[in-house]
Amino acid sequence: MKKIAIIGGGAAGSGAVWQLYKKLGAEVEVTVFERREHVGGRAWDLSFAGCHMEVGGVLFHSTGQITTEMMEYTGCKEAQPSLSIDGKDETYAFWTDRGFPIVVHTSLFSMAFGILRHVGIPSALRVTNRAVKMAEQYEGVYKELREHAPFATPQALFGELGLLEPTHISTADYFRQIKVNDRMTYDVVEAITHNMYNQGAEMNALASLVGLAGAGLAGGHLYVVEGGNWTLYDKMIKKTGTRLLADTKVEKILITSTPEGPRPFAYSLLADDGESFEADAVILAAPPALADLSIELDGEPFELTAYPYQEVQTTLVVGELNPEYFGQKPGAHMPSTIFTASSAPAPFKSIGTTGWSPDYNSRIYKIFSADHVMTEAELHEIFTNILDTHVLVWRGAYPVLTPNIDHLPFELNRGLYFANALETVAGSLEVETVGGVNAANCCVEYLAVA
Ligand SMILES: Cc1cc2nc3c(=O)[nH]c(=O)nc-3n(C[C@H](O)[C@H](O)[C@H](O)COP(=O)(O)OP(=O)(O)OC[C@H]3O[C@@H](n4cnc5c(N)ncnc54)[C@H](O)[C@@H]3O)c2cc1C
Repeated sequence: MKKIAIIGGGAAGSGAVWQLYKKLGAEVEVTVFERREHVGGRAWDLSFAGCHMEVGGVLFHSTGQITTEMMEYTGCKEAQPSLSIDGKDETYAFWTDRGFPIVVHTSLFSMAFGILRHVGIPSALRVTNRAVKMAEQYEGVYKELREHAPFATPQALFGELGLLEPTHISTADYFRQIKVNDRMTYDVVEAITHNMYNQGAEMNALASLVGLAGAGLAGGHLYVVEGGNWTLYDKMIKKTGTRLLADTKVEKILITSTPEGPRPFAYSLLADDGESFEADAVILAAPPALADLSIELDGEPFELTAYPYQEVQTTLVVGELNPEYFGQKPGAHMPSTIFTASSAPAPFKSIGTTGWSPDYNSRIYKIFSADHVMTEAELHEIFTNILDTHVLVWRGAYPVLTPNIDHLPFELNRGLYFANALETVAGSLEVETVGGVNAANCCVEYLAVA
């Protein structure tokens, strides 16, 4: 029986498991190597101040077809994201160097009205139309995955969908070209993408459009998985009968170009516990910048470009916001989420309600501050009272989404595939599973002829 090793049990590795199960079932033996104690990767949760909360990839979008298939297969249930506490007096504000020019309730109508009033109809419509069109084009990916030969590169895939052009240009330039005003680009779009990617209008335009569509501009609804997002991947991997080696970090991949004799396998994996594992094919489902592993081809180093990733400091605070810090009157009612533009006088990228602490009977806020470490003094300016804090550092939360980089291909070598190839264009939980599916398709094609 052919052996396939998957390195990484996040969204991308799970997409690969799912596709191999659908295409090859029990014909192959699939093993997932996961360095942490459970799968999920950047879909990660924790309990803080008596509240369970997602601290990595939080929101799934209802249009994600592969995630939906896995939800049905595993019987996982959708739950409401904890973006609002009581659903009634929740408000969002956009914060700029001119204070809060937009304060809206969480309904789509209120949001649309508030944004239109600030940026004007033409700019708001131009951006919305682009996000809707991008989402429609992107949905073609599922048909392509079913009917097209596996894609060799992200460029080939996005090219087929007609979405390559916005990957070559920054968000700022792209919106300038289509005559979107700066208020829309910097006060609204950038403030939203800060919340999602800790990056702004310097990112490639496709990443911003994906972010805007994911934020609800292109319809659909957002959800989390009941019991924790990572449990979806865990249940799927277990139910498909896939072997999971958790707490097992792969340190080295050895490739033999001409396997023969008593050692028929082309690939050996060396794990941190000293064990080695042989495989006919390998799917790397972790970004080279974060995987901390080396690859050798016939004893020589096999180099992969490690595109840089954005560090994200996540600071959880139980407490009350200080209105004066945000330029508001003392005692003013504060918004639950503050989308923060670059022009705002803040050391962080975004701040928003992430849950309710039953222990303290108080809101819990989540601050994303890219690579800036929030100081005690800063936190005491932002909050009038602090009841509890917790800091979590994502060494690499998302790629630095530079326009026009080359991107790694899906096939790194015959029999060695890369599931995260799409992420340097625009990443999300669903996009990563799509990358995993395409990498698995490449692997299936290889095994058919190997
Ligand atoms: C703070 C934050 C918020 C986000 N919010 C959203 C959101 O709301 N919605 C959304 O769609 N996306 C969101 N994302 C993005 C989303 O979480 C990621 O795109 C996605 O989880 C990446 O999945 P992946 O499988 O490609 O990589 P990872 O999740 O990083 O998976 C890689 C896996 O490989 C393992 N691994 C690495 N090296 C090795 C090794 N040497 N040996 C064995 N195992 C190894 C890792 O432990 C990990 O489990 C967010 C990300 C972050 C960080």
